[in-house]
Amino acid sequence: MRWLYQEGIHSFDGMTNLSKKFRQELSQVSFISTLPPVHREQSTDGTQKFLFQLEDGNRIESVLIPDKARLTLCLSTQVGCALGCQFCLTGKMGRKRDLTVSEILNQILSVRNMLPGKTSITNIVLMGMGEPLANYKNVMKAIELMVYPDAFKFSSRRVTLSTVGLLPELEQLAKEKILFRLAISLNASDEESRSQLMPINRRYPLRKVLEICRNFSTRPRTRITFEYVMVEGMNDSPRDAKRLIKILKGIPSKVNLIPLNEAAGIPFKRPSEEKVRRFQEILMNDGMTAIVRASKGADISAACGQLQGKSSE
Ligand code: SAH
Ligand code: SF4
Repeated sequence: MRWLYQEGIHSFDGMTNLSKKFRQELSQVSFISTLPPVHREQSTDGTQKFLFQLEDGNRIESVLIPDKARLTLCLSTQVGCALGCQFCLTGKMGRKRDLTVSEILNQILSVRNMLPGKTSITNIVLMGMGEPLANYKNVMKAIELMVYPDAFKFSSRRVTLSTVGLLPELEQLAKEKILFRLAISLNASDEESRSQLMPINRRYPLRKVLEICRNFSTRPRTRITFEYVMVEGMNDSPRDAKRLIKILKGIPSKVNLIPLNEAAGIPFKRPSEEKVRRFQEILMNDGMTAIVRASKGADISAACGQLQGKSSE
């Protein structure tokens, strides 16, 4: 594991503390996969987007986001996504397939390999293409290796999984030891607007998602982040803010407001800064933690909801 995940070595020959015979045996029964990028773009704000081609020709993207002392890598977990949220370009692609454990982890290894000298990735977010809980087994296995001391050894506080809250998987998670921070894409404070923005809400309603979140909250140190994409005229009024306060009462939480990233083919607008600020103030005046997450990398289509597995060239 140390050779693979810490040293990032590409051949068994290099694993010099293993016997020659064993190295030979290993190379007869297995191979070390790699994920070379086919394209790399840099935004004016320093964000970088990497396009990878998988063995079957499908393409995925990862985004590297520098922010003060942090360097966050945003990983994909599926090719496309089946859930079709109305504001998300990945959703427009539909779901092609799940990523394997190695395809998820190779995104970290490949990007790390391209970083200069002493730079290291400090945080991982599973917020790229795909719905992580729809690829539950592979994603959990990959996260296990991200936090495992002999593998990537990220602190579990620095790995965040973002999900719409698929109920069966969320219930399963509630029974397990959670090795990451949980972020739930709420995006609305009532069933009707959430269903309009996120069709999956008809099957797994907001009320039930929050019920499970409430149960999580009985565990120590499990403050949940609620993501809230702000869409003009859909969920951005003071009334929505007040309702959001009401439905999150009793859940140790933090709210990330994400002003919509507009794109061709997305039938919505981003609210004015003033409206976003007003919304945030209402939450904060009630004692909630609410931050406005400035999506980075919009000029290279690397911002939230803009990943489609193709470069702009
Ligand atoms: N499928 C998972 C993780 C990937 S999406 C999920 O939905 O949580 C990561 C985040 O990007 C989600 O919170 C989603 O609501 C947000 N997002 C999607 N499209 C967006 C857009 N056009 N503008 C801003 N945020 C967007
Ligand atoms: Fe899928 Fe997340 Fe995009 Fe919704 S927001 S379509 S769940 S990737």
